[in-house]
Amino acid sequence: MKYTTALFDLDGTLLDFSSAERQGFLTAMKKHGIPCDINVYRRYSAINDSLWKAFERKEIGKEEIGTKRYEILFEEMGITADAEQVGKDYKELLSGMGILYDGAIELCKRLVSKGVLLYAVTNGTAHIQAKRMAVSGLDKVFIKTFVSEEIGFQKPDKEYFDYVFENIEEKDKSRILIIGDSPTSDIKGGINAGIDTCYFSAEPHPDISPTYIAGSYDEVERIILQ
Ligand SMILES: [Mg+2]
Repeated sequence: MKYTTALFDLDGTLLDFSSAERQGFLTAMKKHGIPCDINVYRRYSAINDSLWKAFERKEIGKEEIGTKRYEILFEEMGITADAEQVGKDYKELLSGMGILYDGAIELCKRLVSKGVLLYAVTNGTAHIQAKRMAVSGLDKVFIKTFVSEEIGFQKPDKEYFDYVFENIEEKDKSRILIIGDSPTSDIKGGINAGIDTCYFSAEPHPDISPTYIAGSYDEVERIILQ
């Protein structure tokens, strides 16, 4: 077995964050009586993405994103609404949603049965990620979840990965693999940290050179167990 240890990103890799986000958004908007359709959601999603990119570049703080994405959206929509409260309600709704992709938990269970040590590596809010791990059942298969908020650094920071390496059993970096869907946080982070990387995507990315690309859980399993 090439890798004893798998560091899994959660959102977009094992957890279907897109479905959870959409459901959470539409429910929060409805609760506040704000007219909304899928186009409004798409616009929200684009604003949200650009704010997270700004966060990765350290241009804004994570705590600002929750309210700011709604402020920008409401301004664009030309409506007056309580962005802070909508943002809070959305986060609360989101924390209750641990929607797994088909086959995600089965993959993790198979890996555990082969003796692979699984850890979750995620940029997010500690209490939300903990709740989602519990709701999805992922907390039963992962030894530990490393949430950026608790560590004080996030992927792709070297300090984030240093903390992870200090707190896992495997000390040989050549036996650790990170699997994730984000070129900027998972793959860039893994490369900077000196471990092998598995880009979870159906398509290659023009700007990154991961060790592997996997478009399915079967491929991820083959790569880890090779
Ligand atoms: Mg992800």
